[in-house]
Amino acid sequence: MKLSEKEWKKKLSKEQYHVLREKGTEMAFTGKYDKYKEKGVYVCAACGSELFHSDTKFDSGSGWPSFFKPSSKDKVETKQDISHGMERTEALCKKCQSHLGHVFDDGPNPTGKRFCINSASLDFKKEKTKRDSKK
Ligand code: FE
Repeated sequence: MKLSEKEWKKKLSKEQYHVLREKGTEMAFTGKYDKYKEKGVYVCAACGSELFHSDTKFDSGSGWPSFFKPSSKDKVETKQDISHGMERTEALCKKCQSHLGHVFDDGPNPTGKRFCINSASLDFKKEKTKRDSKK
């Protein structure tokens, strides 16, 4: 998905645009998915690509939604980030190259990774239960 920055600005909220397209970071403990525990999938707030499953979400205490792995390897791209005087690994949506957050090596088993993701970069799709699909 390729949109111009002008088009992204139109499509996204101010905060979403700042995080996704300008690599901003929302304030800790303020995002809507930090303490969220519903079952389902987290998708890119910009392009809708599936990024993380709720089964891999854990409470890191960091104030940002944290996952130990992406829903599949070809969904989330990682890149070295040396901005702000730190050496970090940036996580991006592979499909639209929007900024999601950062990846750290202090996550739980089985991967040891912590994908520290801004709520503003995510939308949530609730998993349909068997009962829902019969309706
Ligand atoms: Fe995306």
